[in-house]
Amino acid sequence: MWGAFVRGSAHRAAPAVETARPKGGAVLHEGDWAAPTAPRLALVRRLREQGIVAEAVLAAIARIPRERFVDEALWSRAYEDTALPIGFEQTISQPVVVARMIEAILPVKGRLARVLEVGTGCGYQAAVLSQVAGEVYSIERIKGLYERARSNLRVLRLPNVRLAYGDGYAGLPEAAPFDAIVVAAAAPVVPEALLGQLKRGGKLIVPVGSAEQQLLLVERRVAGYIETRLDLVRFVPMLPGLVR
Ligand code: SAH
Repeated sequence: MWGAFVRGSAHRAAPAVETARPKGGAVLHEGDWAAPTAPRLALVRRLREQGIVAEAVLAAIARIPRERFVDEALWSRAYEDTALPIGFEQTISQPVVVARMIEAILPVKGRLARVLEVGTGCGYQAAVLSQVAGEVYSIERIKGLYERARSNLRVLRLPNVRLAYGDGYAGLPEAAPFDAIVVAAAAPVVPEALLGQLKRGGKLIVPVGSAEQQLLLVERRVAGYIETRLDLVRFVPMLPGLVR
């Protein structure tokens, strides 16, 4: 259901996505936010200790100010390797899980061209993805979070991130196909529409299950799909429909 994008009136044939660009208000300069701080570098060291090896992912995490994606009251905890509340009963994902998922979808050679994230939340993972991919699309079903992510990302002025308000079970057909799809909420089974929006050679990563969840990596090959089971994880559920 794609009727409800925040920008783009019914009279304009605007794409159902929007770029998180500044519209006035405070914007930080890249020179100010991207320089890794001591807590961010400490987080990167912990991620290495936990087996994250992709330098591109570690560099991306070193560049993105995670504190900007949580409430100011939680700033002192922003670089702990834990999930934190972001309102609307949702959480910002644990950094090691963000790192593992992105590591799993990176191509063996070259850069990712176009990625879809399902479950924008506060926008942190979308920001990390923006550092390793040409174009990032991210979709969120809770309007309040979609708007929060938009303002969080606007501060950083990331030109290659586009946000959509909609139900990720339908994917984002207008921007498909994708080189990779990252689902940040746990689905009962792999969502069918997302498989169809993967390029040949593309990778989808999704936590599957309810109480007990496991990351599933699905690769689209010429002859079909190949599934690999990865870590046990804990995500909020992927739910159908929109919250206004
Ligand atoms: N990506 C976030 C994590 C967000 S938590 C980060 O960077 O930390 C998971 C998010 O998925 C929640 O915001 C939840 O509202 C959203 N979500 C759940 N089901 C969804 C669906 N069907 N479509 C889009 N978003 C969904």
